[in-house]
Amino acid sequence: MAFSLLGHHDVVERGVEMTEQNIPTVDDDPITVESRHAPPTVHCPNCDSMMPHKLGEISCAVCSSVVRVDHKPTRRDWVTEKVSCPSCSEILIAGIDERPCGLKCSSCSTIFKLISKEVKVEVSCPSCERTLRLKPRPGSRNLTCPACDETFLVTF
Ligand SMILES: [Zn+2]
Ligand SMILES: [Zn+2]
Ligand SMILES: [Zn+2]
Repeated sequence: MAFSLLGHHDVVERGVEMTEQNIPTVDDDPITVESRHAPPTVHCPNCDSMMPHKLGEISCAVCSSVVRVDHKPTRRDWVTEKVSCPSCSEILIAGIDERPCGLKCSSCSTIFKLISKEVKVEVSCPSCERTLRLKPRPGSRNLTCPACDETFLVTF
């Protein structure tokens, strides 16, 4: 019994080493451009947490409920969105109703990724009432106000 456990352990360790050697190195990150249009804020019908800002089948980060969200104005904004090529600054029309999506500049052939707009929300500190901007993360978390050091709980 002790021998077979030892043997099994050996195999696992060799396996790990091989995997580490086989990890490809990625040194050319695709250029990303942030979209100006974000999908609307939707709350989970099951637990009322804020859902990730996406369209399509979205799963709630808190209770794992899957909700189908679609928003025609966002799709329309995405299709007609004007993006400036990160390489040659040519103005391009995205023409795609999904984010993220890949785009290729018609002028300089640079390929880049157009990603969702990062959504930020404003909350006010319950102690000094200062407005704080932050990236909403579903669920509850503690925030420390940079102005007065008060720690308070926010829930999205
Ligand atoms: Zn939920
Ligand atoms: Zn270009
Ligand atoms: Zn404060």
